[in-house]
Amino acid sequence: MVQEKGTISINTENIFPIIKKFLYSDNEIFLRELISNAVDATQKMKRLATLGHYPGELGNTQIKVAVDKEGKTITISDNGIGMTAEEIRKYINQVAFSGATEFMEKFKEAKDANEIIGRFGLGFYSAFMVADKVEIQTLSYQEGAEAASWTCDGSTSFEISAGSRTERGTDVILYINEESAEFLEEHRIREILNKYAKFLPVPVQFGTKTESVPDGEDEEGKPKYKSVEVDDIINNTNPIWIKSPTDLKDEDYLSFYRELYPFAEDPLFWIHLNVDYPFNLTGVLYFPKLKNDFEVQKNKIRLFSRQVFITDEVKDIVPEFLLLLHGVIDSPDIPLNVSRSFLQADSNVKKINSYISRKVADKLSELYKKDRKPYEEKWNDIGIFVKYGAISDEKFYDKAKEFLLLNNTKNEKYTLDEYAAKVKDFQTDKDGKLVYLYTADAEGQDSYIQAALKKDYDVLLMNTPIDSHFIHHLETKLEKTSLKRVDADVVDKLIVKEDAAKHQLSEEEVKTVKAIFDKAISNPAMKVEVESQEAEAMPVTITMEEWMRRMKDMSRLGGGMNFYGSMPDNYKVTVNANHKLISKLMQADEAQQTAIAKQAYDLAMLAQGLLKGADLTAFVERSVEVL
Ligand code: ADP
Repeated sequence: MVQEKGTISINTENIFPIIKKFLYSDNEIFLRELISNAVDATQKMKRLATLGHYPGELGNTQIKVAVDKEGKTITISDNGIGMTAEEIRKYINQVAFSGATEFMEKFKEAKDANEIIGRFGLGFYSAFMVADKVEIQTLSYQEGAEAASWTCDGSTSFEISAGSRTERGTDVILYINEESAEFLEEHRIREILNKYAKFLPVPVQFGTKTESVPDGEDEEGKPKYKSVEVDDIINNTNPIWIKSPTDLKDEDYLSFYRELYPFAEDPLFWIHLNVDYPFNLTGVLYFPKLKNDFEVQKNKIRLFSRQVFITDEVKDIVPEFLLLLHGVIDSPDIPLNVSRSFLQADSNVKKINSYISRKVADKLSELYKKDRKPYEEKWNDIGIFVKYGAISDEKFYDKAKEFLLLNNTKNEKYTLDEYAAKVKDFQTDKDGKLVYLYTADAEGQDSYIQAALKKDYDVLLMNTPIDSHFIHHLETKLEKTSLKRVDADVVDKLIVKEDAAKHQLSEEEVKTVKAIFDKAISNPAMKVEVESQEAEAMPVTITMEEWMRRMKDMSRLGGGMNFYGSMPDNYKVTVNANHKLISKLMQADEAQQTAIAKQAYDLAMLAQGLLKGADLTAFVERSVEVL
């Protein structure tokens, strides 16, 4: 019966155990590889038929995956072009290495299974990761072709003989090994198919399902239904990203989104990607509603190559700041067996990266220009992308500066240019520099904000996780502009103007007031200063200098500036020389002086949210007594 025996042309005794062991962690991709081969063979067949090179019937071109748990086999069948014995010799036996020696040397450096498979053209042989023996039954489409079979037990020897297939196409039968028994479970195969084959261009059948179909009418003329067993096709062969955007409605994008992420809230908007030069890329990217937990939301973009799923780790293809987007990217320029090292080195990948960044900028600009109001309403969700992009990508910033919005404590939104114009009159200091004020906590810093608003200043809300970086970025980008948190100094000094309020105290009196407060506070981290402010300002204000606070924030975020991190929290305690209370203080007796100073200081601490524990209790008790 056996017509031919031989050895696969690799000189090494037996490389399969090596492949098997090495690739073990990724072994589920055998199914992706074999189904991809079946898809290729099917599509070649269709093309031949379209071109008129095949006179026969194309017939049903479904691919079928079948698991026989008892017989311990998995069979992948297609009605593609099939192979002649000669083609088996050529394509299967001569494993596409340039040489086994090279393989043996290279596999040591390979980072993952994909790298090996991709580099050495081992797609078909990945079957040996899960099978002791692999059998091919095939019949070529060519006229007069004879069915052929090939078997190999994972050693380097194979057998070719006459085959049993009577219809055009190929069965690949895997005799699953002991360790891979998991792949004989239906749910496991379904899971893998859902991951890799969900959007393949050729229908893939796995098992059957019951469906209810119309079955005439009953006596009352109502439609009747009956249950029938039908092939279970696991894939959507025509996903929206391969369609033309002009043929799609919003509802199509939304329902595709729900198909991809059944448990997610609807997205805010989406971008249809479509390029064919200088690389091929299609896809749909969705802007999700962001949740606070960013990490779990990453790895949501799926990368495909001609509708075959490759990976959801798209770090190198998608700009970092867009990793929170959802959706799909499909590029035939990215090989199926893509590996990390490939992605990092590939020049197309870099182009894809900047293309995506540009498309996202264009889309945002379009939304902004088309209708500002809905754009503003989405700002809370998209602001983080835009700010992140502005910081990390120069080109993106250049586009984003026209649609980047600043949000103030009154929830009004301004573009950068609008904002500069808005605050110019009141917030230019004596050197002609613009000073933008901000708060990270509008509730906690209310007394400072109110003081600023009273002076006709505006206060920006900077309360997202990346705002501290964004503030820094704005200062490097905007001309003659700096940003200060509202509690960086007393309100009169936040923006230094020519016409400072006049001092009502003599030098001698300033010393006396300072001594009274130093004594009442008795904390070396609190630096008391007596300054002239407007009479209506608070008698005592506690502030931390902008640069000091930023250094401390940075060291807290792990910026490496541990020198500042280890410093105590130094605050400035500004006593308003022009406040009524201070004149009262000067006239009081010593015991009263300390009590007044302490009470005024505690009030300031309270406004800054710093009064806590025993100090807070003491303050409350003292206040009750005064009442
Ligand atoms: P690759 O697909 O990267 O060429 P493979 O090792 O997966 O490498 O397959 C080698 C060759 O075997 C394919 O190029 C194809 O010519 C042939 N082949 C594999 N599977 C099939 C199939 N189901 N039908 C027809 N030809 C096949």
